[in-house]
Amino acid sequence: MREINVAEVTKTVRQMCIDVNYELSEDMQAALKKAQNEEESELGKTIFSKLQENLVIAKEDQIPICQDTGMAVFFFKIGQDVHFVGGNLTDAINEGVRQGYTDGYLRKSVVGDPLIRKNTGDNTPAVVHYDIVPGDGVTITCAPKGFGSENMSRVFMLKPADGEEGVKNAIVQSVLDAGPNACPPMVVGVGIGGTFEKCAEMAKEALTRPVGQHSEIDYVKDMEEEVLNRINATGIGPAGLGGKITALAVNINTYATHIAGLPVAVNICCHVNRHITREI
Ligand code: SF4
Repeated sequence: MREINVAEVTKTVRQMCIDVNYELSEDMQAALKKAQNEEESELGKTIFSKLQENLVIAKEDQIPICQDTGMAVFFFKIGQDVHFVGGNLTDAINEGVRQGYTDGYLRKSVVGDPLIRKNTGDNTPAVVHYDIVPGDGVTITCAPKGFGSENMSRVFMLKPADGEEGVKNAIVQSVLDAGPNACPPMVVGVGIGGTFEKCAEMAKEALTRPVGQHSEIDYVKDMEEEVLNRINATGIGPAGLGGKITALAVNINTYATHIAGLPVAVNICCHVNRHITREI
């Protein structure tokens, strides 16, 4: 059994919140550069150069890439041979978020109650997904989510008879409904299968898969490519001002489901698709 003091989690989470908001991951940077070369519309090309300029300024001046620094979302994969000591793990994560968003001058966007709507003042609480895995390590992925794109996400409880075509149509329709509101070019995370909540969680985690890395399941990989082509044929384009590149990637995760259902979740992310992973 390996002991980990939760103070180490707080320290790691604090730094992750800052780093993820100041600089995009290498896969996203590469995808944006590739998209800039492929975009054909003049206005689209201009939007891409502005996005690049924004990324350089954020990195050099150590300021957030976007004013919406998101609600902090984490995926914790915890080895079953780990024993946390020194306090409560969830409290330690929230303390890291509190410190990161305060010390990094990141916008505090969280209200403590969805209807009373008083800002908590420190961007807590975070949304944390825990998974128990073999071993004695801890893998932490931080993916803060802006709500321009989160608000355009959807869950569909399709019928099994809707099949693959029904799934593809649901994804494309979600992107059409999102239009410019999701700050394109987007990354589209999709969860197919499971239950109502499982498919939504899979769609969220799919956004953290490096752009350019496809599903290992052949028919799912084909769907990712086909749906991306259909989305880019809509002409929504960068910033919704028209063009060839509306999405950078469609990442699909799948899971077993019930004989009577075909749940599909579409979690849309903007061009600021922030994700960072650290090991403890
Ligand atoms: S959706 Fe993304 S790019 Fe748009 S405001 Fe929110 S975080 Fe920023």
